[in-house]
Amino acid sequence: MCGIVAAIASSDVSNILIDGLFRLEYRGYDSAGIAVFSGDTDRPIQRIRCLGKVAKLQELLVSSPCHSNMGIAHTRWATHGAPDEVNAHPHISDNRIAIVHNGIIENYETLKKEQQAAGFIFNSETDSEVIAHQIIFYLRQNDDLLDAISKTINDLEGAYSLAVLDAHNPQHIVLVREGSPLVIGIATDANYAASDIQALAPVSQTFIHLENGDIAEISQDKVAIFNNHLQAVTRPHHSISAQSYNNELGEYQH
Ligand code: GLU
Repeated sequence: MCGIVAAIASSDVSNILIDGLFRLEYRGYDSAGIAVFSGDTDRPIQRIRCLGKVAKLQELLVSSPCHSNMGIAHTRWATHGAPDEVNAHPHISDNRIAIVHNGIIENYETLKKEQQAAGFIFNSETDSEVIAHQIIFYLRQNDDLLDAISKTINDLEGAYSLAVLDAHNPQHIVLVREGSPLVIGIATDANYAASDIQALAPVSQTFIHLENGDIAEISQDKVAIFNNHLQAVTRPHHSISAQSYNNELGEYQH
């Protein structure tokens, strides 16, 4: 069971992303990675990945800091492709879209063949990489991120909780839940997402649990949730007081 953490705030989120990954270690994983919006013209997405522990990723960030106000992070439990650095998430397409994925894309071989025929180059053996390429495929037809993600998930079969970073839309992170749990954590001047609330314990006490089929767009000061036809939907907010946090965390760990 892998872990997803995403963060968008008014200040650097790199430590929050790494701390979130440490908090998801109990789920088990073989590799870890982080991608942030760098703002750099040639390489707008800065990505660091490694085989092994989150502590190793944290060490790599000492020599290559990933300072940014928005980013996504992942601990991988390999299902397709060996546990190694090139298969670790995030996966990037076209120097623009970075995704982290929890789950399995059952029809990835069909999509991969279509994408290779269309000229997409694969850099990993994972099922997940097709998601990043499919989003780019639709963005090239119509440069609208939510529309491209909605069309992409219509093409996917399987389980696919996602966090998506688009270097052309650095004021938003898009989340998708279909299968594996994904929760949004709300804070002042910041919004977060993770596979469970424990990852966000130091930064948020108010949560929204996404439902299957939900697509959410989070920015620093706003959360918008849609169904897979991109119609706005509302989901209950769930607040946890500091006192009840430990009890609640116990529930979420099982
Ligand atoms: N199926 C994907 C992979 O093998 C994601 C696995 C996960 O949920 O960590 O890379």
